[in-house]
Amino acid sequence: MRKPIAAANWKMNGNFALVEAFAKHAWPQGNVEKIFGLPAIYLTKAHEMGLAELAGEDVSAHVSGAHTGEISATMLKEAGASYAIIGHSERRTDHGETETLLIEKWKQLKAQGLKVIYCIGESLQEYEAGQCDSALLRQLNPVLDAGLVDADTVIAYEPVWAIGTGRTATPEQAQEMHARIRAFVASKYGQEVADNCSILYGGSCKASNAPELFAKPDIDGGLIGGASLKAADFKAII
Ligand code: PEP
Repeated sequence: MRKPIAAANWKMNGNFALVEAFAKHAWPQGNVEKIFGLPAIYLTKAHEMGLAELAGEDVSAHVSGAHTGEISATMLKEAGASYAIIGHSERRTDHGETETLLIEKWKQLKAQGLKVIYCIGESLQEYEAGQCDSALLRQLNPVLDAGLVDADTVIAYEPVWAIGTGRTATPEQAQEMHARIRAFVASKYGQEVADNCSILYGGSCKASNAPELFAKPDIDGGLIGGASLKAADFKAII
């Protein structure tokens, strides 16, 4: 059975002092899996100080070579990461990342035994036009068809209109979308894979709204941006 997950996404925030503070923090040792998504440059120090599990916030679609500024799956692994976040809406928007590219990134991660947190979610425009399903299918179908989803896959449902806006999907809205995502996975991979696939909610999730969201049957935890930058806030969510 899938286990609850609290995943931090620091984005382009933090510094070595914050890494040290997080590494020294007394994190709860219960059955919630904690994942710390940090800028790649901080992973090695976090790993050396014993912070775990660690995630890169992106990865290159290439193995190695002439790709200035890119960070490979091998490098993430060597730095101590066991996960990588791919397809975050900020990367889709800022860098024009497409499903075709994300499939290549996913293959690189899989080849190195790194687990994937795959982000999907509809834009405000799609939300207002009632096009949530087609937005999710556009982002989900190619990776499902590529055979990439497995029991280790974590899917993060992040309505773009809720990310960093303070506007959260209601627990009912989020549950409905999570159930649909699980049904999409089941339709291609069968119910067992779908039942084992963790689906996290992301979008202005914080300690005050997490209990209601996480109480829903298809919400297995959260991908947390702003509220993961203070250890006490993230701990409260865990
Ligand atoms: C995110 O970007 O993954 C996220 C969920 O951000 P926030 O929690 O700040 O909305």
